[in-house]
Amino acid sequence: MPLLRDRFDCVKVAGLARMFRFAGASTKRYERSAPYGVKGPSMDYELFFRDRIAGLKQEGRYRVFADLERHASKFPYATFHGPNGPREVVVWCSNDYLGMGQHPVVLSAMHEALDKCGAGAGGTRNISGTNHYHVLLEQELADLHGKEAALLFNSGYTSNLAALGTLARLLPHCVVFSDAFNHNSMIVGIRDSGAEKHIFHHNSPADLDRLLSQYPKDRPKLVAFESVYSMDGDIAPIGEICDVAEKHGAMTYIDEVHAVGMYGPRGGGVSERDGQAHRLTVIEGTLAKAIGTQGGYITGSAAVVDCVRSFAASFIFSSSLAPAVAAGARASIRQLKTSPEIRERHQERAATLKRLLREHGLPVMPSVSHIVPLLVGDARLCKQASDQLMERHNIYIQPINYPTVPRGTERLRITPTPLHGDTEMNHLVDALLDVWSRLEIRKLAA
Ligand SMILES: *Cc1c(COP(=O)(O)O)cnc(C)c1O
Repeated sequence: MPLLRDRFDCVKVAGLARMFRFAGASTKRYERSAPYGVKGPSMDYELFFRDRIAGLKQEGRYRVFADLERHASKFPYATFHGPNGPREVVVWCSNDYLGMGQHPVVLSAMHEALDKCGAGAGGTRNISGTNHYHVLLEQELADLHGKEAALLFNSGYTSNLAALGTLARLLPHCVVFSDAFNHNSMIVGIRDSGAEKHIFHHNSPADLDRLLSQYPKDRPKLVAFESVYSMDGDIAPIGEICDVAEKHGAMTYIDEVHAVGMYGPRGGGVSERDGQAHRLTVIEGTLAKAIGTQGGYITGSAAVVDCVRSFAASFIFSSSLAPAVAAGARASIRQLKTSPEIRERHQERAATLKRLLREHGLPVMPSVSHIVPLLVGDARLCKQASDQLMERHNIYIQPINYPTVPRGTERLRITPTPLHGDTEMNHLVDALLDVWSRLEIRKLAA
């Protein structure tokens, strides 16, 4: 494309360069002359956006969504609507970790609420959108974590964004200490708060201690971390982190998204399992993973929760969850509080799969939770492995690539549930061995 550089003065070119620097793109390629009848430089937006996508594809990390139709009575089987028409596949990467998304108790609670209250909540919480089911669910959540209060959000993502953003902004001169592997929603929330931030080495109370020591004890501080890290399946030393935080007078904020429902005698998460829930200032979770529905929440003292309720814009200005969703989540939590057997079966399934993979030389990463990551180490290979599992074996495992995980650690992240039987598991292992040998992916050293 001929570039009419002489049509632009230097200032304008410099301005364009500044604008596009974020994309790492040269400005020249996107300049075009007066497409809208306006004089001066303008940008070929379509070309720019097509280029960005082409770049992703070239790197092998363009995301393709699997078009799935879940069946309420047949999880983990689903219909995959692929290029060659629909067919049945086994889903091995769902975050419906316990299959609660199809539990009869959950479905009947949702049907009942739908028939009673209708579809939507009809407003924000403040303006006509607080349904009785929201109130009941918040009581259930506060009880689950042994806290005074809880607050619902439309997603776990929003709960982190809103709560971290608000708390760290309200506290004067707050310094935030964030685990290096924290989820994007926490990172964005902390950034939103405008607070000073330090990143401590992943799961390292010693590094946290070192960073906290740089500040006087009376300076407001917030330590933000997760319990189960969903990509590696490792678990935070919650007690030790609380020890360090307490020593330095810091608040603690834990994301238990990948643990709620699955750990602890009542499903209150790893903080409940480890007897540490009372030491955490805020416990955050989602209703969309093991709980099987939708939405997110925080729990904490009445004052902390009331502050987020009163000051968080992303909470205040958004319509509340559909009442049927709140009813389903509540039924699910109540069910899980008294179902330790489903948690035991879940852990047994994960342990069995890890053992099988290891026995067959497949490079399972050292997870201590229900998450089973299998190392591929290359974005393109990872995508190919996933494609071949689907095409050749009717097995669906989404490839996990950068930026979700660091480059060079691309992986298949497998999430066995209590509903994956031995038949499915043996089929999976055979399929993985086939794909591993076809693509010559590295196995464990024998
Ligand atoms: C999925 C996830 C969230 C967001 O929860 P949603 O309810 O899916 O929005 C928050 N934190 C972590 C660690 C997650 O993996």
